[in-house]
Amino acid sequence: MKTTLSIIIMGMFLFFSQTACNQQVKKMKYNSLTPEEQAVILHKATERPFTGEYDTVFSKGTYVCKQCNAPLYRSNDKFDAHCGWPSFDDAIPGAVKRIPDADGQRTEIVCANCGAHLGHVFLNEGFTPKNTRYCVNSISMKFIPDKVMKAEENNQETAYFASGCFWGTQYHFMKAIGVISTTVGYMGGHTKNPTYQEVCTGRTGHVETTEVVFDKTKTSYEDMIKLFFETHDFTQVGGQGPDIGDQYRSVIFYTSENQKIMAEKYIGILTQKGYKVATILKPAPEFWKAEDYHQEYYEKKHGTPYCHIYRKIF
Ligand SMILES: [Zn+2]
Repeated sequence: MKTTLSIIIMGMFLFFSQTACNQQVKKMKYNSLTPEEQAVILHKATERPFTGEYDTVFSKGTYVCKQCNAPLYRSNDKFDAHCGWPSFDDAIPGAVKRIPDADGQRTEIVCANCGAHLGHVFLNEGFTPKNTRYCVNSISMKFIPDKVMKAEENNQETAYFASGCFWGTQYHFMKAIGVISTTVGYMGGHTKNPTYQEVCTGRTGHVETTEVVFDKTKTSYEDMIKLFFETHDFTQVGGQGPDIGDQYRSVIFYTSENQKIMAEKYIGILTQKGYKVATILKPAPEFWKAEDYHQEYYEKKHGTPYCHIYRKIF
C-alpha cells in the first residue's frame, strides 16, 4: 500500500514537473525561421552538400543553435571531412542530444535545449583521434566569432560600414564618441585574405570596409548608422565620389538581426526624406584586415578625406 501510494505521489510529481517544464519551453522565445531553415530544423531535411555557409569556415568562434541561440560547437573541434557539411569531432558538453534516426540506422543529433534538428553523428571513421564526426547542417547553426562574443560580455558591439575609400570612412568613425577602435579591411568577396592590389582589380568582389568597435554604454548602433549616412553620398551607385568600382560601394554589413532592423529603419527615414538610397544591406561575412599602410591613413599623413565630408541629416 505504502509502495502504491509513493508511486502515485511520484507519478503526480513527474506529471506536474513535466507540465511546468513544457510551460517554460513554451514561454521561451525562439528566433523566427525562414522556410529553408524550417525544412531542416523542424522537418529534418538535409541541406545539399557543399552549399552551406559554414562548410569551409575555420575561424575561431562558437556555433550556436539557429532556433534558440544555445552554444553547440566550438571551432576548435571543427575539422574538414570533405563531405560538404561542417564536421566536428566533439560538441559542447550537454549541448547536443543523440537519438536513433527514424531510418533505423543512423543516429540523429538535435539541440538539447530546443530539439532543433542538427544532422547526424557518425563513429569510428578514423578522421580524428576522437573517432567521431558530428555532421551538421550549416543552416541549423549561427557562427559567432570569438571577437564578437568577448565584446558582448564587455558591453561592446562591432559594426561594419563600407562607404567608398576606407581611409575616409575610418577618419570619421575613429573620432566619434564611444568608439573604441577602428580597422580598415575588405569584406564581401569570394577570396580569402585578399591584398589591396587584388581587390583593386575588381575581380574578388570585396568592398573596402571599416570595422568599428564601440562602447554601448557611451554610444549606440543608431548613432553609428547616422554617422555613416552623414559622411558619404549614399545615393551614388557603383562608387563614391571619384572612386568608381565595386570596391567603393555603399554597404552596411550587419552582425545581428537588431543591426539589420536598425539599418532598414534609417534607410526608410532617408527614403521618406526623398533620398534614393543606394546602400546595400548584407549579413557580415569574414572581415579581412587591410595592409598596415592603409590603417589610420589620414592621421599618419596629417590629411583630410577628399570625398567624405560631414553633413548633418538627422
Ligand atoms: Zn536550440
